[in-house]
Amino acid sequence: MSTSPPSRSAPALTLVQGDITEQAVDAVVNAANSSLMGGGGVDGAIHRRGGPEILAECRALRASKYGRGLPTGEAVATTAGRLPARWVIHTVGPVYAASEDRSDLLASCYRASLRVADELGARTVAFPAISAGIYGWPMDDAARIAVQTVCDTETAVEEVCFVLFDEHAYAAFAAQVQ
Ligand code: ADP
Repeated sequence: MSTSPPSRSAPALTLVQGDITEQAVDAVVNAANSSLMGGGGVDGAIHRRGGPEILAECRALRASKYGRGLPTGEAVATTAGRLPARWVIHTVGPVYAASEDRSDLLASCYRASLRVADELGARTVAFPAISAGIYGWPMDDAARIAVQTVCDTETAVEEVCFVLFDEHAYAAFAAQVQ
């Protein structure tokens, strides 16, 4: 008996206002920094609630494949520790710069994360608004790039949930999802 591979298409989108660490999805995406050693914002929340297992796997990644850190725009998975999700997919968003267009790198975070999700066999994935916090990306533009990129990506992931922390972020994403 053979099983056919899962079909690939653009995933269905949902929006939630809330905390990504509470999402019962297959994988949550972390807006990490390249050190993979934790930080503020969503990164800090994921490590705090997920517990030390996540950091232990991040340290192992730094000691092996990513000795110089995870490059901006790339993604890598670890356990989700004590989170309801099974995996955390860490990606490094670009720091916003008005003087330089880094949109491709931000789009790459979404594409690379969905590629890793496909490798894991994840069917439901939650994303925060990557780069739109400490890294300073204007929320409306971050939302446009996030929604467009996910809609343009062929993946076996069936559902992408954008988890927005506050009303402002939720409204920005809602304006892009018609
Ligand atoms: P970056 O460094 O990529 O800008 P941040 O974590 O600072 O990442 O912020 C990205 C977005 O995630 C911001 O909109 C921030 O408000 C939001 N955020 C912070 N904590 C959480 C959380 N627990 N769940 C979902 N979103 C969060």
